[in-house]
Amino acid sequence: MIYFLGFLVLVLIIVLVSRTMFHSRKKSGDMNYDNIDFPIDEAAHRLSEAIQFETISKQNPDDFQGDEFTRMHAFLKREYPLLHENLKREIINHYSLLFTWQGSNQDLKPMMLTCHLDVVPVEPGTEADWDHPPFQGKITDTHIYGRGTMDVQSGVMGILEAVENLLQRGFKPERTIYLGFGHDEEIDGEFGAQEIARILKDRGVELEFLLDEGLPVVEQLFTGIKSPVALVAIAEKGYLSLELTCLANGGHSSVPQGITAIAQLSNAIRKLEENQMPAKVDKLVKNSLVGMIPGLSYPFRFIFANIWFFQLALKKILTGRPETDATLRTTTATTIFESGLKENVIPTMARAVVNFRLHPNDTVDDVIRHVERTINDPNISINKLYGFINPSEISSPENKNYKILVNSIRQVFPGVSVSPSLMVGATDARHYSELTSNIYRFFPLRANQDDLDRVHGTNERILISNYKEIIQFYARFILNSASLQPIRKIDNSSIFFAELRAKKFKRENKKTAVAV
Ligand SMILES: [Zn+2]
Repeated sequence: MIYFLGFLVLVLIIVLVSRTMFHSRKKSGDMNYDNIDFPIDEAAHRLSEAIQFETISKQNPDDFQGDEFTRMHAFLKREYPLLHENLKREIINHYSLLFTWQGSNQDLKPMMLTCHLDVVPVEPGTEADWDHPPFQGKITDTHIYGRGTMDVQSGVMGILEAVENLLQRGFKPERTIYLGFGHDEEIDGEFGAQEIARILKDRGVELEFLLDEGLPVVEQLFTGIKSPVALVAIAEKGYLSLELTCLANGGHSSVPQGITAIAQLSNAIRKLEENQMPAKVDKLVKNSLVGMIPGLSYPFRFIFANIWFFQLALKKILTGRPETDATLRTTTATTIFESGLKENVIPTMARAVVNFRLHPNDTVDDVIRHVERTINDPNISINKLYGFINPSEISSPENKNYKILVNSIRQVFPGVSVSPSLMVGATDARHYSELTSNIYRFFPLRANQDDLDRVHGTNERILISNYKEIIQFYARFILNSASLQPIRKIDNSSIFFAELRAKKFKRENKKTAVAV
């Protein structure tokens, strides 16, 4: 018996170790690939100018300043002449932009790159906390400062820089490329991205894939990970707000009658918060963890390579941190509670709003059923508020589009791990779901925790060297996705392709030498 147990333990160790080795081997794919080069100073200056347009999305539509967008359109037209000459530009709903770069091969489905033109406001009272005014576009030795440098003028401008650069090199795509820039992503994208998507759908467009802004290249994601991790969101959480109301006897506070509406509703909310929807270490989470393995040190590498064995422990660790917990379940957050007007009057009504971010495993109906069951109180009425949306479909982390994306990331960011992930916030990408099932949300911004706090916050800024990588990434991604044989179609003056041609020449000469 002892021998048998010993044998089982031995088999187990062999399985665990060999899985670790297998996943470690899948690693790098790092390619020693020269990236497209260009003067970054000029591009940085253009980004700085773009930051100076106050294209702010404000909650109150009366405060909207459309002329800032119109002026920005004119600026883009001036700064990117080749792009405006070669691509069709359409202005959608006055302020959003849709560009079409016609491909030569109509058999290939088009691809689409999206970002948004609008930015969030600066929180009143925090202006003085900025090292440089938020709409000045200050360039320092290392950074460009300003609202939108991270979210996401650097994405809009990065895409346009890449396209202009490729056009200068004579590149012509085989696959048609759409560029979509909505003007109201920060307030739901109803008039921008949603309208662009509707127009494309009416034209019968079916996309091969779409890449929207999304998760960044995170440095020091957690202890134990040595390399940065490029997080590619292959799904996006859904959104639901439920209004809970409770009616009860009111009256003078000197003669209370029974349990107040406030107490009943508080009780209901307590039940909801204490009974969160279940967390699961599902396939999406597993794929995400496996993607990080190449950058891990031991013992994390060993654990992540054997999730099946360490599942319970991993779940405990992941649910212990709010950021990772939110990727495992539908979250519950009470955001509004209202009741009572006067200190000596018992209110007849209490009202609360609970906001849920839905995991792809759950639907809006699932959440409502869970809430009804958990509260289980006929005195509480539950009402679904406008603006709910089910979670997105999960795009494949295995098909050729995803692989091209991963390769493009590795070519520009050698040594990073690439991990398919879940977007816990909302992006414009959800509006395009009827055009393709291959939707990826990734933005090549390098960010550690300090940087992430600057998004929508104070002192938003980007490293100039990172902005160069952003432009290189979009150029590389377009080359990799939109052309089957880029080498034949490139202008002779291109440094990058000159190098490829040199390699080809070398290969051919070698062949000749052998033949001789
Ligand atoms: Zn954004």
